[in-house]
Amino acid sequence: MQLIFGTHNQNKVEEITKILPSGYVIKSLTDLNFNTEIEESGTTLEENALIKATSIFNIFKKDCFADDSGLMVNALGGRPGVLSARYAGNQKIAKDNTDKLLSELKGVNDRRAQFKTVIALILGGNKYLFEGVIKGEISTSPKGQYGFGYDPVFIPEKYELTFAQLTMHEKNKISHRARAFKKLVRFLKS
Ligand code: IMP
Repeated sequence: MQLIFGTHNQNKVEEITKILPSGYVIKSLTDLNFNTEIEESGTTLEENALIKATSIFNIFKKDCFADDSGLMVNALGGRPGVLSARYAGNQKIAKDNTDKLLSELKGVNDRRAQFKTVIALILGGNKYLFEGVIKGEISTSPKGQYGFGYDPVFIPEKYELTFAQLTMHEKNKISHRARAFKKLVRFLKS
């Protein structure tokens, strides 16, 4: 069975492909040569995931899913949240984002934060949402060389290391995205 994943990110495609039940084949937007940008105009991760999945469904008329993720920081009232990618500007530069975050949290003791992923699935014309969360805290300085985005400043709970100090394999065992992917897979198996 074919499922379109509304992403161009090959790492995400590989991550989900590893845990998909046999019989499912993922087609990414790259595989489909679909290069039009879908505007993420929602104010929540749920809205954005649904906007993306619905746009793809309307174009291809096939079963599909899309994800949206963000970092919510308690002391910032949940920011950067849905705006995580462009927190420090539309250029979406990861280092600018982490620098801005560390400077906003300078001197702040409450460093609790969480990453969240929402997946919107459209299967047989019905819509389903799946969510994955990992709690943790924001470090006082960036550490580590792996990963992307806010990984160098996010320490998952029960760990001493940032996401960027964990290998991709270790991160993928506990990450928000992995947790949401597992819920999607459990649903597809049921
Ligand atoms: P996306 O919805 O997966 O594209 O994530 C949106 C933004 O959230 C990314 O551009 C990153 O800034 C941030 N983000 C999401 N997941 C992660 C992660 O696993 N590590 C670090 N940053 C992340």
